[in-house]
Amino acid sequence: MEKLLNFINGEYAEPSSGQFLDNYNPSTGEVDSLVADSNEMDMILAIQAANKAFDRWKKRPLKERVDYLFKISELIEKNADALAEAESRDQGKPVSLAKKVDIPRAALNFRFFAGEILHHKEVSTDVDGKLLNYTLRQPLGVAGLISPWNLPLYLLTWKIAPALACGNTAVCKPSEFTSRTASMLGEIFNEAGLPPGVCNIVLGRGETAGQTLVSHPGVPLISFTGGTATGEKILKSTAAHFKKVSLELGGKNATIILKDADLKKTIPGVINASFLNQGEVCLCGEKILVQEELYDEFVEKFVEATKAIKVGDPKDIKTFMGPLVSKQHYDKVTGMIEMAKNDQGKILVGGDRPDLPDDLKKGYFLNPTVITDISNCSELHQTEVFGPVVTIQPFKYSADAAKWANNSEYGLSASIWTESLTKAHKLAQSLDVGTVWINTWLNRDLRVPFGGFKHSGQGREGGEHSIDFFTEQKTVSLQL
Ligand code: NAD
Repeated sequence: MEKLLNFINGEYAEPSSGQFLDNYNPSTGEVDSLVADSNEMDMILAIQAANKAFDRWKKRPLKERVDYLFKISELIEKNADALAEAESRDQGKPVSLAKKVDIPRAALNFRFFAGEILHHKEVSTDVDGKLLNYTLRQPLGVAGLISPWNLPLYLLTWKIAPALACGNTAVCKPSEFTSRTASMLGEIFNEAGLPPGVCNIVLGRGETAGQTLVSHPGVPLISFTGGTATGEKILKSTAAHFKKVSLELGGKNATIILKDADLKKTIPGVINASFLNQGEVCLCGEKILVQEELYDEFVEKFVEATKAIKVGDPKDIKTFMGPLVSKQHYDKVTGMIEMAKNDQGKILVGGDRPDLPDDLKKGYFLNPTVITDISNCSELHQTEVFGPVVTIQPFKYSADAAKWANNSEYGLSASIWTESLTKAHKLAQSLDVGTVWINTWLNRDLRVPFGGFKHSGQGREGGEHSIDFFTEQKTVSLQL
């Protein structure tokens, strides 16, 4: 069976223990490859390789570093079809979505941060012509980059590109559920001529490989995207070494629809915000809040649009939703639907499995699910589902919508749908979240700060914020 291997110091390597994890294809429920189950020793080898490469990498002329990033971006584009198919096979997302979003975005991450670092400027201040202050930036060393399974290549490259652009070297730990595209990156790095050790990829479990990376004293910064509980563990593990840590964590995001929303634009937008990527986007709006006057009409049209969603083979161009990523995750999501039923929730559509051909019968498919009539205080309104399950609740005034949207430990994002931009702006001001979209969702401009309030994260990444994170800034004060 195919083995997905580590990429350390420019070479593919088996894990030192010889142990592998089963890697399931979520469409079939069958094991279709094996993933290196790396241990502490593998991770230490990767950290040593990255550490050794650091001194030369940080001294390379800026243009040279940037040229590598542009080359990697081109190679991702050249291999886009193979990468999209691999992403879909591992994660379950439709191939069409991976081709349209994940892979182009991975290529863009390298191009964007090459441009960002090329155009980066520092400031200087003059004090009466007698004192000149200016700032210098320097990379920190080995960056530990840990990513989740929902947007595997997209999110990993969002970290690799700025880390390398700033002159750090990197050790990456992708999710054990979706290691395939990360393992393919090694070939791309070698074809781009990236010097050995500059970017290493260690596959395996979080509690072994990941834990070694976050607690190793030779890794001064950690950029993590994943669940809030893991983020908390990482903060504790890194505290002893005062590491620089950026955390992009979970969310329980609201979609707020005001009574004057144009449903022609709103329904397709909210369908995307609810069910894109099987609802496995940290920014999906799981909690839909609709102003009373529009509630009945919205529910009727939204349910109709949900029923029209095609769930099935991710290779089929017409498929909008593939299977959930894993059996564990399928059980978690269906468990939350049961919780809603116990809370007297009314399932208007979904909650069951689609009827599929024999080869997909064991896959982790679930129909998009719409639930109403559960209390605002229900646990389902506080806990992230991270699947194709939304609740709809009515509200009277904008202030009520803000209250229920903010009623969770998370604070990642929200979307507001209305024709009144003044009302939307006021509502945006009252939401405790890192990103608010108005009449759109998931529109990302890589220059703007991205991150969460409360338990949704710590720090901001994107544009100059990533440069801030992946460098230390130094002030030099010169008496003239
Ligand atoms: P997870 O926290 O289980 O795993 C994320 C990564 O951390 C994996 O690579 C895993 O192996 C690793 N890991 C686990 N334990 C570790 C440890 N002790 N030390 C070091 N690494 C460890 O998350 P997941 O289930 O893969 O992803 C789903 C979560 O990610 C959801 O909560 C989702 O909202 C969140 N997410 C957030 C964003 C964002 O930008 N805020 C984006 C995507 C996903």
